[in-house]
Amino acid sequence: MAPHTSPDRSLGITVPLYRSGDWGYGLFSHFRIGTRLTAMMVVAAVVAVLLATLGIQGLATSNESLRQVYEERMKPMQALAHISHLMLANRLQLQIALREAAAPSDPAVARGVADTLQRNMEDIDQLWRAHQAQARTHNPQEYPLAERFIRRREQYVVEAIQPAIQALRALAYRDVSAPASRAQALYESTNTEIQALINLQLDAAQATYGAGMQRYQQTWWISISALLTAMALLSLLGVLLIRSLVRPLRHVIQVFRHIESGKLDTPIDLRGSDEISDVMRALQTLQVTLDTNAKAIHQLAYYDPLTQLPNRRLLRERMEAALLASGQDIQHRALLLLDLDNFKTINDTQGHEVGDQLLVEVAQSLRSVIGERGTIARLGGDEFVILLNDLPAQESSAREHVKHVAQQLLTILKKPSTLAGHIQRTSASIGICLFQRNNATAKDLLKRADVAMYQAKADGRNGFCFFNPAMQAQLDARTALQCALHGAVDAGQFQLHFQLQVNAQRQALGAEVLLRWTHPQFGSISPGVFIPIAEDSGLILVLGEWVLQQACLQLKRWEDSALTSDLVLAVNVSARQFSHPDFVTQVQGALQHSGANPARLVLELTESLVLQDIADTINTMQMLRRQGVRFSLDDFGTGYSSLSHLKQLPLYQLKIDGSFVQDIVTDPSDQAMVQTMVDMAHNLGMDVIAEGVETEAQRQALLRLDCPTYQGYLFARPLPLAQFEQSLEQQATRAASATSSISPPSTPALPMRA
Ligand code: C2E
Ligand code: MG
Ligand code: MG
Repeated sequence: MAPHTSPDRSLGITVPLYRSGDWGYGLFSHFRIGTRLTAMMVVAAVVAVLLATLGIQGLATSNESLRQVYEERMKPMQALAHISHLMLANRLQLQIALREAAAPSDPAVARGVADTLQRNMEDIDQLWRAHQAQARTHNPQEYPLAERFIRRREQYVVEAIQPAIQALRALAYRDVSAPASRAQALYESTNTEIQALINLQLDAAQATYGAGMQRYQQTWWISISALLTAMALLSLLGVLLIRSLVRPLRHVIQVFRHIESGKLDTPIDLRGSDEISDVMRALQTLQVTLDTNAKAIHQLAYYDPLTQLPNRRLLRERMEAALLASGQDIQHRALLLLDLDNFKTINDTQGHEVGDQLLVEVAQSLRSVIGERGTIARLGGDEFVILLNDLPAQESSAREHVKHVAQQLLTILKKPSTLAGHIQRTSASIGICLFQRNNATAKDLLKRADVAMYQAKADGRNGFCFFNPAMQAQLDARTALQCALHGAVDAGQFQLHFQLQVNAQRQALGAEVLLRWTHPQFGSISPGVFIPIAEDSGLILVLGEWVLQQACLQLKRWEDSALTSDLVLAVNVSARQFSHPDFVTQVQGALQHSGANPARLVLELTESLVLQDIADTINTMQMLRRQGVRFSLDDFGTGYSSLSHLKQLPLYQLKIDGSFVQDIVTDPSDQAMVQTMVDMAHNLGMDVIAEGVETEAQRQALLRLDCPTYQGYLFARPLPLAQFEQSLEQQATRAASATSSISPPSTPALPMRA
């Protein structure tokens, strides 16, 4: 059978057909199974009827032959034999009559003989008539014999038997001898003819019997041959019918088994139009549906639905494969971790749809650069990973190659694009790590690329950085710190430091609570180092809660002293802490447990935190605001919040970031920025404070720009509680002595807006 293919109309694909290898199947499969079985039964019935007819005809013919032999030959032959017998009996009677004539004894004997002769003659007459009636088939020799016999019988009756009967009745014994001798003579000649007739009948009987036997034999052979042929034919038909059912059924089972084992491309024969072909068509549809679903599941499991790039899972598999292959060759391979520099801002300020479009465009740009040279994956958010295989074995060449790719990537990403009607510019920071000879795990490689990427960001973004061992040391240190951080709260390794916040007259308004970690081995660790680690590991939740509780307890303790009862405490809140569903409860718990006045608690939020999900942020802030807690926007000016965002937030204070203060004396643009921020705060009815004030000149500049509150080394460094309280007392004493020596008294401290 020639190979077949059949276009699957529903999908427009070509499905190779199942080759049955059975000529019967193709023929049979066009008929429904019911039709096939009915046809088979009809053929069987016709054969049976033909055979029965043939047999019955044969039997009838044999029966007719037997009947002919018996009725038309044997019976007439019997009649002739009987005639001969009666004639012989007459002869004996006539001999008795002749003996009586020689010595008469009793007249009754003569009459008895006459009666017997008379009866015999009548019987012979009757027998002859019967013979004439039965013997139907006469051959030409029989007619003259029969005529001669008739003539002789008449002579026998007229010339011999009747005169003998008359003489015997009349007891005329002398007249008996002449008819007796005549009877003897006629008997002998008649008997010859009877024997000849009998022989003729016998011949005819034999011929009829022979013909009957021949017919019987013929019928027997024909019937047996027909029966055997019919049986063979029906068996063949039966076998073909069974094969036409069993073969496709086996194929159906085979397809089911393949489906069970996940193979969904088994070729299926769709030519037939019987019930099994219907099942096959249904199976084909099932296969196609399952295949589509499997592909969809695979796509969902291994690809990012937004960009259609491989996801983290598929990347992990490809990385494992690359690592395995790297153990068998000397080629270098590289992992590039790419993070967009301003994605968060675009996403937060222009909405997720624009953010999504940007990610799709970035994916396309990456594809256009990388092509088939490697795997591009999206890890989530704005993080993309590129795995490059088959780089040169020599490290310097591999580096050059990857450098070139990274530059291409940065160039293409920098090109402006139009999204949602706005021209968008984006840039990326790329961390690169080369690997060779299976010398790391996939997790290690990702971590290395991550560290290098953060270095690229630290180096000013829109660039790339190769991972180096120094970074590994940093990474190890970070891991060590992460481990150490776990037991640090319980081990009492944390301490709160307090940094003074003052007004224009240097009077204390409050303090910012700054966390300090002193580890027995690592020593004092900066919050700039351990806070991001705590954020990453989730430990910030425990840590943040502890800081809140301590700050509230401190506020409560300060209530009893005139020196501290009016102070506010500003507590830094991290993004992860703020977005936790229990955050409001946590703050309320800390306040209630300590009994502190909520109006003395200020929570410092950063710009990026509040912009994350502005509706949720406002909701959380309002819940706490209703309790009396206030909010300050920390590091203001470093983020991307607009006036429209600020307007919506229930903030009480903007905290100008130290970076604007640093050069405020010399840099007119910083002055302009600070001026704008101060105006903005005033316009929105908010307080404003500058942090990082280190010099008197900075303070003066800020004062001129109408910024009346400050925090910075100029006034106090962050100090442990005891020293902080001590410095408060010293400051109060200085202020008191200044007041007593200078008249009129200096402007009173600006009240803090509640
Ligand atoms: P921040 O909230 O902006 O805190 C101000 C930082 O500026 C503090 O650094 C402080 O010591 C420093 N600083 C104050 N005055 C001056 C100055 O005149 N010159 C200079 N150069 N620096 C000054 P610190 O303590 O290292 O804290 C760094 C950051 O760590 C904080 O920035 C804050 O974001 C975070 N942080 C500190 N404690 C906590 C905390 O309890 N929870 C959370 N979530 N974050 C905290
Ligand atoms: Mg702060
Ligand atoms: Mg700050």
